[in-house]
Amino acid sequence: MNHLYDKNFTCPICDKKHISKKVRSKFIKSISHDSDFCTHYESVDTNPLLYYVNVCPTCGYASSEEFSNYFKPGTKDQIETKIWKHWHGKSYGEKRTVDLAINTYKLAIYTGLLKKETPIVIAGLYLRLAWIYRTLLVDELQEKRFMKLALEQYKDSYSVGDYIGKDLSELRLLYIIGELYSRIGYFEQAIKYFSLVVQHKNRTFETRMVENASNRWFEIREMQKSKKTAMS
Ligand SMILES: [Zn+2]
Repeated sequence: MNHLYDKNFTCPICDKKHISKKVRSKFIKSISHDSDFCTHYESVDTNPLLYYVNVCPTCGYASSEEFSNYFKPGTKDQIETKIWKHWHGKSYGEKRTVDLAINTYKLAIYTGLLKKETPIVIAGLYLRLAWIYRTLLVDELQEKRFMKLALEQYKDSYSVGDYIGKDLSELRLLYIIGELYSRIGYFEQAIKYFSLVVQHKNRTFETRMVENASNRWFEIREMQKSKKTAMS
């Protein structure tokens, strides 16, 4: 198992130390990327998506490294009564199967919602979970379910502006929103967001993203045209 290493964490809820496995970067091998930035990896054993969430074995607090260290008043109490009190002491600190990894995401989403973590962070969890269903289980129903939930959070993020100062630019965020609308079949909404990307004030700085958006816009229009022709 030398493709995995131990990373140390101190839990902000119970103050206990624990380890979580991570994939060594030199073993991470991608084979392709989808238009929503989902990466397909060569092997499930070295798929970093399975190790994105860290779960405290003592109290069940589950988080990604995007979670902030700040807890809004009352949220620690909520986590203690709704998670720690019912925690069964399960450890996720070893090699993970896909099912175990899915559990960690569901735990982190629940924890994140109790913590009132920002929409951009919750969106990242929902989207990665959708990617696991797509790339490792080919379960389209669950994939769409979690893409819809990610979409709602990305839209909230756009309206409250919590993405500002993170790795995600406004233009990229608008692109992802368009992309998710398209993938769940809301093509008019997708077109609307892809148009916002193409006309964005930063379009000359992020030309690749603009090109992606305009390609996707064109694909949808072509698809709609051929549907109309088929129906007439
Ligand atoms: Zn803990």
